[in-house]
Amino acid sequence: MALFTPLRRWQPAFRPFSRQPAGRRLLALTERVVKGPLFGCRMCGNCLLQETAFICHMACPKGLRNGPCGGVNNGYCYVDPTRRCAWHLIYERSYRMHREHKLLEVLPPVDWDRAGTETWGEVVRTARMAGLRTIFFPSARKGITLGEALEEKVFRPIRQPDWWRGDSEYHPPAVTEPQSALERELRSGRFVITAEVTPPLTATTARLREKITTVKPFVTAINFTDGSSAVPRMSSAACSAVAASLGADPVMQISARDTTRNSLQSMAIGANALGVHNILCLSGDSPRVGPAPRSSMNIVDIDSVQMLWILRRMRDEGIYLDGREIKNRPKLFLGAALAPFAQDPALQAIRIRKKIYAGAQFLQTNLVFDPDSLDPLLEQMEKNDLLGKVFLLVGISPLKSLSLAKYLNSNIPGVKVPDAIMKRLADAGTRLEEESIAITAENLKKLSKKHGVSGVHIMPLGWEDSLPVIIKRATDEAIHLERTGQGNPS
Ligand code: SF4
Repeated sequence: MALFTPLRRWQPAFRPFSRQPAGRRLLALTERVVKGPLFGCRMCGNCLLQETAFICHMACPKGLRNGPCGGVNNGYCYVDPTRRCAWHLIYERSYRMHREHKLLEVLPPVDWDRAGTETWGEVVRTARMAGLRTIFFPSARKGITLGEALEEKVFRPIRQPDWWRGDSEYHPPAVTEPQSALERELRSGRFVITAEVTPPLTATTARLREKITTVKPFVTAINFTDGSSAVPRMSSAACSAVAASLGADPVMQISARDTTRNSLQSMAIGANALGVHNILCLSGDSPRVGPAPRSSMNIVDIDSVQMLWILRRMRDEGIYLDGREIKNRPKLFLGAALAPFAQDPALQAIRIRKKIYAGAQFLQTNLVFDPDSLDPLLEQMEKNDLLGKVFLLVGISPLKSLSLAKYLNSNIPGVKVPDAIMKRLADAGTRLEEESIAITAENLKKLSKKHGVSGVHIMPLGWEDSLPVIIKRATDEAIHLERTGQGNPS
């Protein structure tokens, strides 16, 4: 148990990959003995305690380094519901300590060469290289405090190595041309509809092609999930390539759960070559919610914020993470997932800001059944000047049965089917499907009038056939899906 974070569960420390010199081993042991009991330190060798309000973020079962995933449920972790979400604790304490500004910096993935090794020695070495006089002598610091000098000369260079160079600034896309049909349509200011198609469980594409052909005329782009619920299916990359070959604009989802920094870059380049330009980066469901035997439930290689950062630099700066030049840069329109009700809207705004600053140009939300419940989050986004920097597509879904509605309510964190909708579905009896389509069409219409909402993302949950009817119903009732451009990034 960590003294600094009471009740924190102890997790074993990482071990160094290679044998270290005796001096460094001794220092690492000392650090482990001190920081282990005090902070629950796992010796990742890439210390971020300064940025995380002195709570070790490596307690997060996913090892996320840039904020919580969408699964945080009333402050608790959905992977292990008996423990508080490490990042929720970090956010809370950062606010209490007035250190919330530190949460905005896009932090690098773990350099595994350093895992299990000491970090104190590195602090001393960096301080000596920067010049002890510059840091510690008031006359040489030219109006900055000792804390600021240490931050600038020592801690920042350590946590932001040259191969990463992360910051807390907004980086508007360096490309001016729309990179995909989806981006072009969103930029036009028209209200956009995208839909999700679940990849098949088989190795044939006949049914997939059929679904794509059914959905394509009604939407601007089609998402393909990436092993959602941690269940293996046809890859999102393969489905996206099939969709591109059929003339649809695919959104390839990449979940951090199954992705390494190498595979991300290879996949982005390869998919681009096959006509896939929209990429949605998300953490992905933990293997904990998938079938047994389960894969590692411990530490993703890169998180969704880092994925966005890497992909944005591939497109805008033409470099791989290791610094190699990309001769023909990929054309990418980058998106991120948003769980609107996972946390307090003020805390959510930090996470959203970080994703947008890292490179997200569009956000697709988890399921929303009550459009007005989005208002507090939209207000926070407006307050933080985020609405003008991102296209927001709100997730909606027709519910094919009452049991599905009940399942969502009790099993999916952050998804709430309101009582009024439950009652309408229950009262509908044999007309349930029709009533469900009517509810979805109503929500679509309401959302099309909301300031800051650029479109909807329909997740038919296996009921793709309902999609044309929903969209037709919403448009037939003379609803102008043409937007005025308000709330859309220019
Ligand atoms: S897995 Fe998600 S919910 Fe659990 S601690 Fe990590 S960020 Fe929080």
